[in-house]
Amino acid sequence: MADNVTDGARLVMFGRQGAGKGTQCVRLAAHFGEPHISTGDMLRAAAAFGSPFGLKVKEIMDAGGLVSDDVMIGVVAERLDEADASRGYILDGFPRTVPQGEKLDVITADRPLDVVINLDVSEDVVIGRITKRRVCATCGTNYSTDSPPTHDWTCDVCGGHVVQRPDDTEEAVLERLALYASETLPLVPFYEAKGLLLPVDGIGETDEVTDRLVESISDRLATRR
Ligand code: AMP
Repeated sequence: MADNVTDGARLVMFGRQGAGKGTQCVRLAAHFGEPHISTGDMLRAAAAFGSPFGLKVKEIMDAGGLVSDDVMIGVVAERLDEADASRGYILDGFPRTVPQGEKLDVITADRPLDVVINLDVSEDVVIGRITKRRVCATCGTNYSTDSPPTHDWTCDVCGGHVVQRPDDTEEAVLERLALYASETLPLVPFYEAKGLLLPVDGIGETDEVTDRLVESISDRLATRR
C-alpha cells in the first residue's frame, strides 16, 4: 500500500448522507494522523449545549435543512485556525455548497487542499443504511441495527446512549437527499475543474472501503508536490 505522507494531508470528504463518511473519516484520521473535523458533529455539540445559536441549529438539522453558508464558513474558518489543524485535517461535511467551496478556497489560500474525496454510494443504498443507523449521543460513534453495541444500546467506546439521530427519519432523509442533489452535487464539477476530485467507490465492507480510500489518497498525496 502506497503511503508516502511526509507533509500534512489536507483532505475533504463528501458524499451522500449515509455513504459512510463519518466512519471512514475516523479511520482516515487515525491512519494519516490528522484531526477529523466534522461540521455535523460540531453542530450537534452546539445543539446539545442548548445556547440560542444551538437551539436554532437544532431546529434546522432536525428538519433536514442546511445551516446558512455564512454561519458555516465562520465556524469552519475558526476551527481550521486551531493549532491541531495547522499541518492538515480531514474535513467531513464541509463544503456542502459551491459558495462554501469558494470560501474554503479563500480560507486555505496559503495551504491549499490536497484531495477532495467523493465517497460514492447510490441513493437506494444510503436510504437503506440511514434508516438502520444508530449513533452514540455522547461521542458520535456510529452503529447500525445490524451491528449494534455489545450491551443494550450502550456505546462500546464511551458508555453513552446509542440512539437514532432525529434527522434520520424518512421524511428528513428524503429532504437531505434532495438538498444533496441540488446543493452539494455541483461541487463535483467544481473540484473536478481544479483537478482535486478523487471519486472512491463506497460500496463494500468497512475495512475494504478504508483500504481503498487509504490507497487512492496515498497515491494522490505522493504525486502532489
Ligand atoms: P452530517 O452529520 O454531516 O450529516 O450533518 C448533519 C446536519 O448538520 C446536516 O443535515 C445540516 O443540517 C447540518 N450541516 C452539517 N454541515 C453543514 C454544512 N457544511 N452546511 C450546512 N449545514 C450543515
